[in-house]
Amino acid sequence: MFKIEDIRKDFPILSRKVHGKPLVYLDNGATSQTPIQVINTIVDYYSNYNANIHRGVHTLSQEATDKYETARYKIQNHFNAKHAHEIILTSGTTESINLVAHGFASLLKKNDEVIVSSLEHHSNIVPWQMLCEKTGAFLKVIPMNDEGDLVMEEYDKLLSKKTKLVFVNHISNALGTINPIKYIIEKGHQVGAAVLIDGAQACPHIKPDVQELDVDFYVASAHKMCGPTGVGMLYGKESWLKKLPPYQGGGEMIAEVTFEKTTYANLPHKFEAGTPNICGGIAFGTAIDYLNNIGFDNIATYEHELLEYATKKLLEIEGLKIYGTSKNKTSVISFNLNGIHPYDVGTILDKLGIAVRTGHHCAQPIMAYYKIPGTVRASFAFYNTKEEIDVLVEGVKKAKMMLS
Ligand code: PMP
Repeated sequence: MFKIEDIRKDFPILSRKVHGKPLVYLDNGATSQTPIQVINTIVDYYSNYNANIHRGVHTLSQEATDKYETARYKIQNHFNAKHAHEIILTSGTTESINLVAHGFASLLKKNDEVIVSSLEHHSNIVPWQMLCEKTGAFLKVIPMNDEGDLVMEEYDKLLSKKTKLVFVNHISNALGTINPIKYIIEKGHQVGAAVLIDGAQACPHIKPDVQELDVDFYVASAHKMCGPTGVGMLYGKESWLKKLPPYQGGGEMIAEVTFEKTTYANLPHKFEAGTPNICGGIAFGTAIDYLNNIGFDNIATYEHELLEYATKKLLEIEGLKIYGTSKNKTSVISFNLNGIHPYDVGTILDKLGIAVRTGHHCAQPIMAYYKIPGTVRASFAFYNTKEEIDVLVEGVKKAKMMLS
């Protein structure tokens, strides 16, 4: 197990103050903090070898290209993809999903069906709704229960030969539920559907093996994995990526261009038009190294302790209700204080230096299910401590006193 004092030293931001109080950063579900190793990679890139990649014969361009492609290998190894060219570097989860949704517009027919879950982030709902509008396909929804688990018997009933695509998040950002994706993938494949898993919230906590999962598409964002914003990945099985048309046209993604006809580059470049986020991609590779050095088993064990501790302590506060009580969940606690708006609680916590998220967490259907405007969400990372949870609990008590 790691030493938490050493880990915290890697994150310069954790020693800053907010409103004169030590920062307690519990908004990791929105974005994670950045270790010095990743910051150093970014500084090194712009200080020493900033150049455009893939086309240059000069040294800087070759150095940048090597590092960028090394990052792609790191991502490939991390997710255990069979080929490096099955890893497409994108601007993040949202773009990865839109890339696949765009491609399926040419593969779906009227009356085909696509299945989504009721636990999705808007970025895993809206692109598919747009796809359905374009193609005349129907969107079907796997319902959830009060605990925040998906109802698998209902999923089984929705599947049919008409189902062409299933897309579900690995972990819900609003509630922390870990979805049974292995089952979802297997069942989807039995009816011939492709399955996309949104791993944005899972990848900070879990190391997914895309071959073992036999998933068709898996997407994630670097900024939730201690990497920078504006970069992410799409894993796609080679066979699917070959079938999908390019997402954007431009430089880098072509083999040959004439005014009569353009032929496209091979994978992965077919999906990587224009100058990418070169520095971001390289720093994503460093972030993956950083997390693997700590070890995902260590991260899971430690975060589970934080989750259990925080759940117990918060539930001791009278009138506090936690939404999302699945037995399979990660270190996310969504809660409300009876009769008090989550925004007001969040504002008081901020004054105490505590960063939490308030609102619908881009998951309005979940809020509609519980008939609430939103929640206060505390989401923990491996660099958080029990002492910080104590500060949160005292802060919530104070907010309750001030707002009741
Ligand atoms: N899906 C889930 C489950 C998420 O939590 C998020 C980010 N909150 C996204 C998708 C979108 O990720 P990004 O904004 O990095 O594209």
